[in-house]
Amino acid sequence: MTPSELHAAAIALEGRPAVEILRWAAERFPGRLAFATGFGVEGCVLVDLIARNEVDVDLFTLDTGLLFPATLELWKRLEERYGVVIRGVRPARTVEEQASIEGADLWDRDPDRCCLLRKVQPLRGALLGYDAWISSIRRDQTRDRAAAGAVEPDGKFGLVKVNPLAGWSAEEVWRYARQNGVPYNPLHDQGYPSIGCWPCTSPVAPGEDPRAGRWRGRAKKECGLHSKAAQTEV
Ligand code: SF4
Repeated sequence: MTPSELHAAAIALEGRPAVEILRWAAERFPGRLAFATGFGVEGCVLVDLIARNEVDVDLFTLDTGLLFPATLELWKRLEERYGVVIRGVRPARTVEEQASIEGADLWDRDPDRCCLLRKVQPLRGALLGYDAWISSIRRDQTRDRAAAGAVEPDGKFGLVKVNPLAGWSAEEVWRYARQNGVPYNPLHDQGYPSIGCWPCTSPVAPGEDPRAGRWRGRAKKECGLHSKAAQTEV
């Protein structure tokens, strides 16, 4: 798509229902559309919408080797509930191999490099062969996400990025999940509004920013996947 076509599509799709945005993407990029879910509640809602409406999308997740056991169980539950396959995309090295080369607990010493090796590079490889990818970001999650359109160019990966939930609030996501019985990570009910790899995720106190538990104590709040800057999230 040319930049002007993409801009026109973003305007036309702004405020439209998420399923309409998903259908538009599947029709516009047949067989070339992927969804990388990180199994947050937004991602679970999108898996529900994709499966329920039979939208043609390849599903995958970045399996860093450092996911919570509850996240791995949710992965299975979603596949069983919706009859879909969510492909696991893994880094070039296991956690142990990474430790032998980079030293133990790289996430403590250099989380940007750890995210680069375990998330950004695998995602870059997984997106080869696609023209567009769906993300589950919402505008009110972080400053980097505040300007996200329903569709937008993703220069970092050279693709079109589709954000069907960009305009949803957290309350709208949870209402949809509860009304439709969407499986979600039980850690959300234990003080974890945002869940990533276990070494970099901690519970948040009432009133804290929902992402305060990600890379706690550091300025870092994104893996780099969705930021416009040098790094990249899920
Ligand atoms: S979230 Fe933490 S453990 Fe996971 S890839 Fe990034 S730095 Fe490494």
